[in-house]
Parts: sequence; C-alpha cells; structure tokens
Amino acid sequence: MATRKKYKLKFGVKFIIFLIIVGVIGFFVYDAYQKDLAYKNSHKYKLLQKGYKEDIVNLFMDKLTDEQEEDLLTRDYDEFIPFFVNAQYFKYDNLDLYLEQVITKEKDFFKYHGTDGYDYDLLVGIVNTHANEENYSGNRKSDLSKGYGVLVNKHYSLDDYTPDDLESIPWKYRLGMENDKIQLRKDAYDAYLEMWEAAYEEDIYLLALSGYRSKKEQQSEYDYYYKLKGEKYAENIAARAGHSEHQTGLALDIYSKECALSDNFHKSKSYEWLVNNSYKYGYILRYPEGKEKITGFKYESWHYRYLGVELATKVHESGLTYDEYYEFYLANNNE
Ligand SMILES: [Zn+2]
Repeated sequence: MATRKKYKLKFGVKFIIFLIIVGVIGFFVYDAYQKDLAYKNSHKYKLLQKGYKEDIVNLFMDKLTDEQEEDLLTRDYDEFIPFFVNAQYFKYDNLDLYLEQVITKEKDFFKYHGTDGYDYDLLVGIVNTHANEENYSGNRKSDLSKGYGVLVNKHYSLDDYTPDDLESIPWKYRLGMENDKIQLRKDAYDAYLEMWEAAYEEDIYLLALSGYRSKKEQQSEYDYYYKLKGEKYAENIAARAGHSEHQTGLALDIYSKECALSDNFHKSKSYEWLVNNSYKYGYILRYPEGKEKITGFKYESWHYRYLGVELATKVHESGLTYDEYYEFYLANNNE
C-alpha cells in the first residue's frame, strides 16, 4: 500500500508540474500573441510597413502627435516628409504647403537644391511666414493687439493706422536739418536715446535717419523708387503703403557719424555694435543678410525695429527673423 500511495503522490506531483508548464507556456504564447497584435496595430508598425526606415519612424514618434501620425498613415509614402518633420520650426498644419514648395521649386533647382539637398529650414521658414504666397495677396491685417510685437510685412497690412504717442528725435541724435522731423513712439524713442548714450560711451555716434512714416509718405517713397528704377527695384527696396514697418512708429533707420549714408554701413564698427547690443534696448536688426526670401527685403544693415527689451532679447537669441519668430511663437493659430 505504502509504495502505491507513494506512486500516486508522484503521479499527482508530475501532473501538477505538467499543468504548470502548460500554463506558463500558454501564458507566454498568449502574451506574445497579444503583444504582436498590439504591435501590428501600432502607428510604428504601420509606418514601417509604409516604407519609412526605423530611424525615420522614431523621428515621427518623437515629433508628431497621435493625430498627426494617423494623418500620415492616410498619405502615400513621401521621401520628403521626414526632412520637413526634422526641421526645427516645422508645423504639421503646413505640411502640404512645404511639399508643394519642393515641387514648384524644382524648376528653380540651383537656388534651392545645393550639393547636400534642399534647405528645408529655409523652405519651412518661407511657408511659415507666407513668403510662398504672392506678395500683398493674402489680405491679412496686422494684429495691433500684439502691441510692440505687431507684425507688418508684405503679408500683413496696417491700413490707416497712426500711432498717437509720437516724439520727435532731437537734432543731436539724428541726421537732417534742424527743422526736420524724425519721430518714434514714446517707448521706442526713450529706448533709442538710451541706446544712443550707451553707444556714445563707446565712441560710436549714432544718427537716426528715418523713423515714423505715414501711409501717404510711404506711398510717395514707393512711387519715388518706382519712377527712379522701375517696379522690380521699388518692390525690393520699399514696402507698399500700409505695409511698411515705419508706419508703426517703431522702426528706425540708423547710420552713424563714422559711416553716414553709405552702402558700407555693414562693415562699420557702429553696425557691429548695433548688431551685438541693440536688443538690450529693445531693437532688432529687421532685414538680415541671407533671409531675403523670408523678409521680402534686401539686406538692410541700418533698419532696426523696436519690440521692447524682453521680446527683442528672445528674437535675438532665436536667430530668427521677426517674421519667423512671430509666426512660430506669437501668431494666433486660428487666424
Ligand atoms: Zn527702414
């Protein structure tokens, strides 16, 4: 009896062990099956199936929201999409416009396609700032509720806006005859004088050349260049009426005693000082070199824009044009 009982027990133990093994294997098989199912339903798997490489899919996972990944899955594979997603100031809502740039700019091959490919940051900047559109075609109004941050360019118009706190810059700080008027809004005026003193401490004698310009005066300026050298020249050098920053009373053209009214201002130590210090007084260089496609203006080493110290510092540190900074960080997304 004793041996038989022992045998029975042994059998029972073996059976239990068998059940445990089956259970464990079953669990792992089921678990693996579930995981596989979940994986095959994941955006990652589906994007890989679409033909995107693993590092690209990881980039998508990193930079896009769930909703955007879903949208991507409804699209055909596109070799250009990852380059745009990877750009620092990429906005998903503009994806189709970015891709359109690649197609339309193909004709302009040498401008946009260097030895190492398209300049995706530039294309993103162009689209984000509406520079892909025909100038003056968007019919957008400048948002005056942005205060000193108001954006005025070839895509945003001030219409008939006139500032109500203009101050005239004294002769000592400007070019022109004694009776000439160069005006700025009060805070921009105070900041210019403060900046002037700081520059003067370092033997730089700044001279304001042009400040506030009414819509009518801007029209005369544009007409002047138009008559002088034709439409293309005028378009490149002067904004159309309602579209000049000078109408805000926050823009100032600055030269210096050392280098007055010269095309070489960008080589002067006054310019170097302004580029490195103006933001501390709330002013930024508005039309930098190499950003002509975005600003729509040729490089103007003398044109500065008052934004207030805080915003000017942020823009200066970003390395962006104000057009790009505004569109990425300040524009209303529901416009
Ligand atoms: Zn100017």
